[in-house]
Amino acid sequence: MSFTLAIVGRPNVGKSTLFNRLVGKRLALVDDQPGVTRDLREGAARLGDLRFTVIDTAGLEEATDESLQGRMRRLTERAVDMADICLFMIDARVGVTPTDEFFAGLLRKRAKHVILAANKAEGRAGESGVLEAYALGLGDPLRLSAEHGEGMSDLLALLMPLADEFAERAEADAPETDVDVSEDLADDAPRVPTKAKPLQIAVVGRPNAGKSTLINQMLGEERLLTGPEAGITRDAISVQMDWDGVPIRMFDTAGMRKKARVQEKLEKLSVSDGLRAVKFAEVVIVLIDAEIPFEQQDLRIADLAEREGRAVVLAVNKWDVEPNKQKKLKDLRESFERLLPQLRGAPLVTVSAKTGRGLNRLQEAVMKAHEVWNRRVTTSQLNRWLIDMVEAHPPPAPAGRRIKLRYMTQAKTRPPGFVVMCSMPEKLPESYSRYLVNGLRDSFDMPGTPIRLWMRSQA
Ligand code: GDP
Ligand code: GDP
Repeated sequence: MSFTLAIVGRPNVGKSTLFNRLVGKRLALVDDQPGVTRDLREGAARLGDLRFTVIDTAGLEEATDESLQGRMRRLTERAVDMADICLFMIDARVGVTPTDEFFAGLLRKRAKHVILAANKAEGRAGESGVLEAYALGLGDPLRLSAEHGEGMSDLLALLMPLADEFAERAEADAPETDVDVSEDLADDAPRVPTKAKPLQIAVVGRPNAGKSTLINQMLGEERLLTGPEAGITRDAISVQMDWDGVPIRMFDTAGMRKKARVQEKLEKLSVSDGLRAVKFAEVVIVLIDAEIPFEQQDLRIADLAEREGRAVVLAVNKWDVEPNKQKKLKDLRESFERLLPQLRGAPLVTVSAKTGRGLNRLQEAVMKAHEVWNRRVTTSQLNRWLIDMVEAHPPPAPAGRRIKLRYMTQAKTRPPGFVVMCSMPEKLPESYSRYLVNGLRDSFDMPGTPIRLWMRSQA
């Protein structure tokens, strides 16, 4: 049921370094054909709880002549065809090269799943290379430092749902549940799964906030959550299910596991249980107990979800026993604005996990948050907007020279990220960035979602 990951990319980007980190000493050579020995290496990889096979295409010098280029290509193609998932690596310090573009084209046509990784991204030297990588059209780049082991948990987060899919597919032989990645497509058709992806959700919050109760209520009773006999294993990383007609994948949270282990009812649920789930989720529901709202732990969890770039929905639970609802709601909104300014505009929904009240509104808020998180604003809209913003409130002029904001574009979604080209970016005060971010929220209807903004000087 395990899967195969191929690490591909031009020489010297760091493929072997990552391979060695994943494999340690558990190494095997794949290829014993004369002449190509050592071209492909295969190893048993371990990352978090995952076990899989990894293939490395290292062992080639930079292609300087025709034959070597051809060999590099054939080798990569072979690795790609052997793999379920390709990790395509570029060097963030160098940026995107023509050879990278060539490989990207090959992968777009040929690979089933591609994870784009910008390696050597430790420190700040890799930042512009990471941004350039968006232009490859292979989705959001993963920032990695193979040498320093940074970004490994993000890699794990990307692999887990895929691993899940492979596991499910292996289990269920029924073709209709199959994602069509293994289908033979026309050679120039992109091989990407076409099935609608389930929404990835995590419910996090303090112990006793009501997470288990909520999850059970969302999923229509204990059917799926009460243990192996009901169809899930205790160690399930995530469970795919239907939330009133919306396909979702619920990530491993304390709430889920607690139900699976009734014996350990009094187990102390640490915040870190929830933190892991945050990494895997697209939308994080931060569940707060109405009786003790916005405690230190709530704030930490919400802040972490924001920093991880997840869409956040605040759900205030146990509303059924709240005696003074109107006043309480007013207080909650005030505390929210004061204590979590970084989540300005995020939805706050009152619910009762116990009775199910408010869950429709929670579902609406989750879907809206997910939509906003994925939103794209056109470059022309952005630049018209930027002119207005600068006119309304010009940037400062340190030492008599006004900082010029020249041009702006959206570099990414999930969450939305924007690049502003400007003179003297290092002189632009934080308050001005905040002004722009808040303006983006208001003008383009992006409440609540984390927004990233990078100021760059023109190259
Ligand atoms: P390959 O040819 O793609 O397999 O690349 P290697 O794994 O042999 O790495 C090429 C060079 O990049 C080596 O000198 C590595 O030490 C270095 N390198 C690999 N990963 C990183 C990283 O994350 N950061 C930095 N700064 N250097 C790295
Ligand atoms: P968890 O630790 O976050 O998973 O919390 P649980 O789901 O185990 O709930 C903790 C306690 O709060 C239990 O006694 C639940 O019955 C209770 N509880 C959960 N949701 C509600 C609710 O909406 N209203 C009321 N009155 N009690 C609730």
